[in-house]
Amino acid sequence: MRNHRQTAGTAIILRMTHPENNQKYKGLSVTKGIDQPPIVNPYRKANVIKKDYSVSEYVEGILNGNRVMLSQAVTLVDSARPDHQQKAQQIIEKCLPYAGKSIRVGITGVPGAGKSTSIEAFGMQWIRSGKKLAVLAIDPSSERSKGSILGDKTRMEELSVQDNAFIRPSPSAGSLGGVARKTRETIVLCEAAGFDTIFVETVGVGQSETAVHSMVDFFLLIQITGGGDELQGIKRGIMEMADGIVINKADGDNVEKAKVTQTQYRNALRLFPAHESGWSPQVLTYSGKTGFGVNEVLEMIYKYISETKANNYFRHKRNIQAKYWMYETINEQLRNRFYQNKEIETLIRTKEAQVLDEEISPFTAAHSLLDHYFNSEDILK
Ligand code: GDP
Repeated sequence: MRNHRQTAGTAIILRMTHPENNQKYKGLSVTKGIDQPPIVNPYRKANVIKKDYSVSEYVEGILNGNRVMLSQAVTLVDSARPDHQQKAQQIIEKCLPYAGKSIRVGITGVPGAGKSTSIEAFGMQWIRSGKKLAVLAIDPSSERSKGSILGDKTRMEELSVQDNAFIRPSPSAGSLGGVARKTRETIVLCEAAGFDTIFVETVGVGQSETAVHSMVDFFLLIQITGGGDELQGIKRGIMEMADGIVINKADGDNVEKAKVTQTQYRNALRLFPAHESGWSPQVLTYSGKTGFGVNEVLEMIYKYISETKANNYFRHKRNIQAKYWMYETINEQLRNRFYQNKEIETLIRTKEAQVLDEEISPFTAAHSLLDHYFNSEDILK
């Protein structure tokens, strides 16, 4: 299959040579469209461990709010090296008693919806009210391309220089589940370092919203007004997850259109079953650029948090999430250890060949590999 991440240049050539654009073809014509910027951020830098510290030095640094230590501990969480992973787990374990006290907000929206502009606007307002904000990201593009759609440091310029803000790009490698787990662990470290608000940003494509939803208290969906058919493009599952839908870019000529979109969403939400939390998701308009309506968005989040704390749903949801992460981590570790087992690596190729030659069924092959692994010494380690 063709790599769909072709560059803008290739895309243009493809469009120009498209058979339907041949003069002789009288049917549909394919418009040239506009050039798109590369989807992957070329400026992303890898994080490196500059000086290594002991676990207790890291923990002390984090608890004292030392950002360099925090940043480096997050790099350990992100690292694929087993010794880094082990150290990261020890740090997380020691930080856990100091974590859990923040408000966690998930923010999603398609590229161009204005996530980074909005996070900057929300974040600056949040910080002005005396809060400490960490902005983390889950970027599904990192899995295949090692690139980043989200979370790089060149965005949110005003926020990124604030003492009370900590902005961290998405963990860079591994499956979406692995990337999400690392972000979940980073939340613990940020909370222990005194950040009382955590934003977890993700791009509105694929499964990443589900991952973010499983680690936040409030899930915010950023939408923009378009040609009137906005609701058609949005997946039902995402609407169901949202505690708030906010229509961005309500400025200039767009104000009225944003109101129409707001009504459409409000009507659509009436068809959804009531939330278990007792909360009715709200639909607001705002502008990340001018600041119009930003306060109302933040007030909505505060209101949700205070209502769900009062009716105990807040704690209930966090418990469900903790259970979810326990099982997710078991699944991930089982999978990793199985596939990284040296004997399995060799045996799996033999079994695969036998399956392809129809010597054994895929189920027999899978069972014999699993039996082999569970009888191996690896699981005793
Ligand atoms: P992201 O890809 O979702 O992070 O979106 P960005 O924050 O990078 O914004 C995408 C584009 O929309 C940029 O050109 C922004 O300047 C523009 N934009 C973002 N928010 C607003 C807004 O409130 N009003 C207007 N008019 N433009 C906006």
